[in-house]
Parts: sequence; C-alpha cells; structure tokens
Amino acid sequence: MTVYRNITTHLNYLDDRRTIYSCAHCNTHLIYQDDIISKAFQGQTGRAYLVVWINNIKLGVKEKRMLITGIHTIAEISCIHCHNKLGWKYIHAVESSQKFKEDKFIVEKQKIVKETTSIPSNTYYED
Ligand SMILES: [Zn+2]
Repeated sequence: MTVYRNITTHLNYLDDRRTIYSCAHCNTHLIYQDDIISKAFQGQTGRAYLVVWINNIKLGVKEKRMLITGIHTIAEISCIHCHNKLGWKYIHAVESSQKFKEDKFIVEKQKIVKETTSIPSNTYYED
C-alpha cells in the first residue's frame, strides 16, 4: 500500500499515541514531534521550528524572500481550519548550504501548542 502525504483539503486527525503539536488557535492537529528537526530557527515572531512535515495546512502563493541566510523562495502556510498563519514552506534556496531546507517547513513556536494527554491528578478509576 502506498502512503500518500499530500496536503489535503479536509482535516486529518493524527495518531494521538504519538506526541502532537496543534494549532494554538483552534487545536487542529498539525505536527508530530518526531517530524521536528530543529527548535532553534528564527521565525517572524520569534523562535520557530523546522519540520519535515505538517498536516492540515493551506499553502499560500510562492514568493521570494530575503532571509538572514539569503534569498529563498517560500510560501506562507496557514491552518486549514482557522486560517491562522503558522509560518512558511521553503520551496527553493539559492545558497547550496541552505538546500537542506527545501520542502521543509518553518513553524512559529507561538502558533502551536503541544497536546497534553496526561490524566489529571484527581482522576481515579473504579473497579
Ligand atoms: Zn487553526
């Protein structure tokens, strides 16, 4: 069976046995923690994550942008549900040292929240 990882137009619910990051605005599932390559990137509003894949997003129009590391072709990404801008996708990098970022995504840390599945301490189970 082939697994397609296309950007879809309907909401995908991620496997909640894995650690997930969701949209801070509407809680749509976006990223598996395993797909985060680096947490030391700089976004427009501060710290940002570099991720290999993000679910439930809409891709904006391609544009050239001058970033700290040179000219890149990027496309803004936003939450498919609430349209909150999350960051951008690197489409093309001019500098060969930046090529590793192509087809990856920058997600602003402020725009996402880590899902917590822990059970509250006052919860108990009866037999
Ligand atoms: Zn959202």
